Amino acid sequence: MIGRWAGTAAAAVLIVAGAPPGAAHELSLEGPLTQGGLVIGRGDAGIAVTVDGRAVRVSPEGLFLVGFGRDAPPTVEVRVRYRDGVTTVRVLHVARRTYQVQRIDGLPPRTVTPTPEDLERIRLDGAAIAAVRARDSSRADFASRFQWPVRGRVSGVFGSQRILNGKPRHPHGGVDVVAPPGTPVAASADGVVVLAHPDMFLTGRTVMIDHGHGLASVYAHMSEILVTQGQRVARGTPIGRVGASGRVTGPHLHWGVSLFDTRLDPALLVGPMAE
Ligand SMILES: [Zn+2]
Repeated sequence: MIGRWAGTAAAAVLIVAGAPPGAAHELSLEGPLTQGGLVIGRGDAGIAVTVDGRAVRVSPEGLFLVGFGRDAPPTVEVRVRYRDGVTTVRVLHVARRTYQVQRIDGLPPRTVTPTPEDLERIRLDGAAIAAVRARDSSRADFASRFQWPVRGRVSGVFGSQRILNGKPRHPHGGVDVVAPPGTPVAASADGVVVLAHPDMFLTGRTVMIDHGHGLASVYAHMSEILVTQGQRVARGTPIGRVGASGRVTGPHLHWGVSLFDTRLDPALLVGPMAE
């Protein structure tokens, strides 16, 4: 499964170096042009960038992010305006993916519908997570690149969806990696811990890291949290341990990456898992 996504990513990597003939500007867009993918743009210092008409943050070195959601449209327009007023428009063609859909019927109602008290906790947890995803910090920590936070069997892939008793659930927003309880979980990239929650209803012991420019990662169901809110972490820093906290059927790490409220496929950020 990982090999398949990695293959897709490799095939779709686009590096556009240089600019139209005669122009002195540089623009590179690096990353998989596929649903769930993240592209890191690099241009001259002082550029202004819009993605489908919305302004995005640009670092002092000219770095910016473009993300494609699970159901991203076939084309996304990136418009770059240089300090001298020259404007470049790139239309990115985003490859469409197909996702696993699993239908399960005949479940007892209780396993499908939470109680009002549970729903209130889920709402509060969701608000805390949404507040993290809304952050737009100026650090470009994502430039450190990403690594797998833990190694093991991938038991759940990005974008898959279950339909329980005819009700479509939210598509899976990350990847699940099975590893023995207690296995250290590493920060997938440089960043700042912006959420370290000991007991969320669905996701249990949960850590979120802000990598800058709206890019955040989440690590769920851990048995132990090894970092505190506000702590600076480097890629590879242990942040917790694999567990089965929250609503799960067995020990695993749920790892998610989002650009604001758009979920991205973490597997596309890291490539195949080394043995
Ligand atoms: Zn998961």
